[in-house]
This record gives sequence, C-alpha cells and structure tokens, in this order.
Amino acid sequence: MLDSVSEILRLQSAGEASAVEIASAALDRIETADGTINAFTHLNRELTLAAAADVDRRRSAGETLGPLAGVPVAVKDVLCTHDMPTTCSSKMLHNFHPPYDSGVVEKLRAADAVIVGKTNMDEFAMGASTENSAFGVTKNPWDTTRIPGGSSGGAAACVAASMVPISLGTDTGGSIRQPAAMCGVTGLKPTYGRVSRYGLIAFASSLDQVGPIGWSVQDIAPLMETIAGHDKRDSTSLNLDVGSYVDAIKGTDLTGIKIGMLRESMEAEGVDPTIKEAVKEAAKVFEKAGAELIDINLPHSEYWVPTYYVIAPSEASSNLSRYDGAHYGHRAADIETGAELGPLVTTYCRSRDEGFGAEVKRRIMLGTYALSEGYADDYYNKALKVRRLIKSDFDAAFSQVDLLLGPVTPTAAFPLGSKVDDPIQMYLCDLFTTGANLAGIPALSLPAGKDADGLPIAIQLQAPALEESRLLFAGSVFQLVTDHHTDRPNTERPDTTKGVQS
Ligand code: GLN
Repeated sequence: MLDSVSEILRLQSAGEASAVEIASAALDRIETADGTINAFTHLNRELTLAAAADVDRRRSAGETLGPLAGVPVAVKDVLCTHDMPTTCSSKMLHNFHPPYDSGVVEKLRAADAVIVGKTNMDEFAMGASTENSAFGVTKNPWDTTRIPGGSSGGAAACVAASMVPISLGTDTGGSIRQPAAMCGVTGLKPTYGRVSRYGLIAFASSLDQVGPIGWSVQDIAPLMETIAGHDKRDSTSLNLDVGSYVDAIKGTDLTGIKIGMLRESMEAEGVDPTIKEAVKEAAKVFEKAGAELIDINLPHSEYWVPTYYVIAPSEASSNLSRYDGAHYGHRAADIETGAELGPLVTTYCRSRDEGFGAEVKRRIMLGTYALSEGYADDYYNKALKVRRLIKSDFDAAFSQVDLLLGPVTPTAAFPLGSKVDDPIQMYLCDLFTTGANLAGIPALSLPAGKDADGLPIAIQLQAPALEESRLLFAGSVFQLVTDHHTDRPNTERPDTTKGVQS
C-alpha cells in the first residue's frame, strides 16, 4: 500500500483508506523496520497523525485538496522544518530547532503531503555511504551488511524498505542518484536553480540541489512538480515557469530523441562489468522505443572528481565557518563544571573540534587550503577554469544529442566499513555523478537490474538544463517496458549487524 503515490491517492478518493490509516501504516512499518535500517533521525507520530487527520477532515468537508494529499513523505535532515529538529546528522546541530520551514517543505505542506520525519545522511551531506552520521549508519534494505549509498542514504533506504513512497534528498555531487542507484529506487537531481535552496543547510552553494526519490518516475513526477519553481528567498532560484511533469511522462514513443552513449564511462577502469552491461541493455530498450543512439565523448570527464573535490570543500569551508559555538551550533563547555571556556577563541576551537566529525574536518581543511593566499590560483581558481571546460563539454554534447546515457556508480553497494578509512576510494564513488552538478544540469538515476550478488544497479540519464520533462519522459518509457523498479527487497530478515557508531 505504501509503494505508490497514485495508489495512495486512489485509495483515499475511492474511500478505501483514510489519510490517517495510510499514515498509521507508514508509522507502523517504520517502527518495525527502522530498528534494523536506521533510515530516520526523527519521527513524530503525533504530528504525522494530526496532519493526516486534517487532510481527512478537509476531504469530508468537501475542500479541494493538494496534489499530494495524504501521501506520507520523508525529508532529508538537511532541510529546515519548523516543527522537527534539523541536525544534518551532526553533533554540531544536535539541538537545532529551526524557527521556519525550508521552501520545499512549505511546498510539501501546501500540497497536503504528510511529513512523517527526517532522514539520516552523511554529516552535512559529505559522503557516499551514510557512514559519516552522528546517528549511526543506515543499512541497505537489500542487504543490511551493506551501505545504502550517500549522502541521502536514509531518504533512499526508507523508500526501498517501503516505509514511505517518496522522499526528498539533496544532491551536491551525486547524493540523490547514488543512494537511489544502490537502493534500487529512482532519483532525480534537478537543474541548479529549478528547486529552492531556501532553508537547505548549505554544503557547497554553487552545486547543492533538492530533488525527489521514489520507486518510479510515476512517483517522483508529482513530487518534482510540487517542489519546482521560483523562490525569491533563494537568489539563485530561476524565475521561469514550470510545466507539468505529470503530463510530460504520458506517452511511449521516443522517436526523434537522440541519446548519447558516454564512451569514457563505458571504457573506464574499475567499473563493474554488470553495470556496463546494464547500460548497454538499457540502450537497446531506448532504441526499441524509437530513440537513436550516438557515441559521445566528454573529453574532460576525468577531471570531474578532482574539480569537484576542490570546489565543494572550498565552498564548504566558507559555509561551515558559521558553526563556532557562539553564532550557531554546539557550544563546548568545561567538562567538569559546565562553565564557559574562557577566551572566545577557545570556545570556537573546542566547539568545532567536538561538534564536527572527521570527514567534515577533512573537507574544511582541504577547502581552507585550496582558498588560501598563495594557493588559490593553483587550486580553487584553476578548478573554476576546469569547471568551465566541463560545462563546455556538455554544451557540445547537447548540440548533438538530447540525452546522455551512462552509469550512476562504478559498483553496487559495498560492505559497511570497507571504505570509511580510505577517502580517495570513497571520493571515486562520485566518478559519474559530479559532472551534472558542476555543469548545473539535471540527471536521473533509474534501477536497471541486479549484480551477481543480487544488489541493485542503475543507469543514469542526463539532459540539458531545464529539460527535466524530457528526462522524466524517457525514464518513464524505460519503466513501462522494464520491471527493475518493481523488485522489492526482503526486509524481514533479522539484523545481525546492528551497532551504532558514535
Ligand atoms: N559523495 C559526494 C561528497 O561526498 C557527494 C555528496 C553530495 O552530493 N551531497 O561530497
């Protein structure tokens, strides 16, 4: 019952289930399964049931309801909510109760969605495995000895474990697409500026975007339609009309669409051959639906990861300077007496030392170095120039084709703990996803089968800026003729690996 938005809407309009019954089913499912999965950092039964009861009351009163009326939604804990804590899975913000809602959360409420809680993530969205969380790791519902991907690991896992049908994640270098791929669900990173970043706690402001996760394109299209659009409180928000994504996915024919096969990613080393095979299989599906396939090169794609890992930490080091224990965030005190620490600079240093985890500190140091006088020309300013070349590659490609097809990740979900001590290996998970963020274009991750261990693998479609409709249309055609998105994990297995990291 909790797998599909359209089914949830139908059940209510047919009078077969109330919003309260649907919300209760979601809460019960979360309470049963989340002891193992740990997808949620915060759940509020009372608020959830009250929001659902309000939908039922207004339906009975004959009021017109929003497009997501009574649909349970989970929200990544990097998006401000006035009635729930917002922690970024960091000790630094463990006590933060924002006084306002983020732009996307406002829109969810206006669409009458029922927000059930906040989901776990890598601290401040820095990571690819959800292991960098102050609230413990999230487990992959397909195999609880494996990571769910990251940083929106909780948002992808709660959908994959059928706790809620849809969720909101954020994507700075792959954090929607990569966990969606590893959890066997569908995820969209929108065009930079298409969705409001107001009330999204900043990681790297020139790259961050909010986007939807769900089982299928059918499920994420109405969520994307709800959250897209201008917000004057975000100066980078695009003041352009948003068409209907729900209408855009009607149809089955890809005739006239040219799809570029990304040659470098198909030839890259260290990529699981089953993933390359899945991309080739997907290409055949698109061809059969009428699309024309063309080989495409993106000559600077080998620089995506190095460029991203200069720009993102640089912006992060600046954004995170506000957390000093005085203006914002965890404030260190004398352990024995609880008294102030003396000089303000001691409070700054100790608060940041206690509040931030190891990966966040690493990013702050990397970024501070890349921006520092004497090094900025060699690192940050050079990375900006390479970013322009990367963007030009995409512009050239999109003068020849309408969409680009390739992998999302080099491998399926890896075992918990296997890469946490090796940052370079972790950063290489972002090999195929960072390009879209650097170029500001939309990209979609679609389930495309299983590897030899039965773990989900995925394909990625990328489109020119603001062509979300084209992307979702092609994705929905793919899902009409394939059934990878209808597979469900067996989440009833007992967990033998539970253990919370501090
Ligand atoms: N894995 C990437 C990183 O660690 C991407 C994170 C993201 O998109 N938020 O920075």
